[in-house]
Amino acid sequence: MAQQDTEQEQTRAAGVLPVDDEGYVVDSEECEERESAYRERGTSRPITVVGNPVLHRECADVTEFGEELARLVDDMFASQRTAEGVGLAANQIGVGLKVFVYDCPDDEGVRHVGVVCNPRVQEIPAERRRLDDSSEGCLSVPTAYAALARPDYAEVTGQDEKGNPIRVRGTGYFARCLQHETDHLYGSLYIDRLSKRERKEALRQMAEGTPRYPVVANA
Ligand SMILES: [Zn+2]
Repeated sequence: MAQQDTEQEQTRAAGVLPVDDEGYVVDSEECEERESAYRERGTSRPITVVGNPVLHRECADVTEFGEELARLVDDMFASQRTAEGVGLAANQIGVGLKVFVYDCPDDEGVRHVGVVCNPRVQEIPAERRRLDDSSEGCLSVPTAYAALARPDYAEVTGQDEKGNPIRVRGTGYFARCLQHETDHLYGSLYIDRLSKRERKEALRQMAEGTPRYPVVANA
């Protein structure tokens, strides 16, 4: 028993999550410990906002899964916490690499904490697609919110921070988060999915509000 515990701890320390019997990562265990370990090693960085070119172009694939990536992930968790976000893409702290982190509840209130590199949202069969038109916001469009219909279930494939292939699935707000963060890494913001009028309204809300966390001023 003790041996098994030790092995599990080593696995977690390496940023590799266990997998359930359907092949999805188990990202809802030890959330508190895992999130705080990342965040305490990291340094919080200011958030880029709409108009910054790094948010509007596709990021590069992650090809090196070493120390530098580990430091970036730590900084992303620290920044996510400072900004009180439930998900953060690397380009939101100015790094054009395909990696996002999350700390987000699903439709049953279960907390999920994890890291995905090179994510791809999987196509959900039409009979399983149900749209949820809840409100959505983004740390890079501070103080603005808008209703946006998205599937209430999502699956993402990608790699963990060590380069191992992973599958992540989520419901409710977490499904929305997985789709929102993947969009970021392909240069899309949620406001790009709104109608012209709704987009304008979101930008107006942003112009009138004051972010509660440090942001990078646009040139
Ligand atoms: Zn966002």
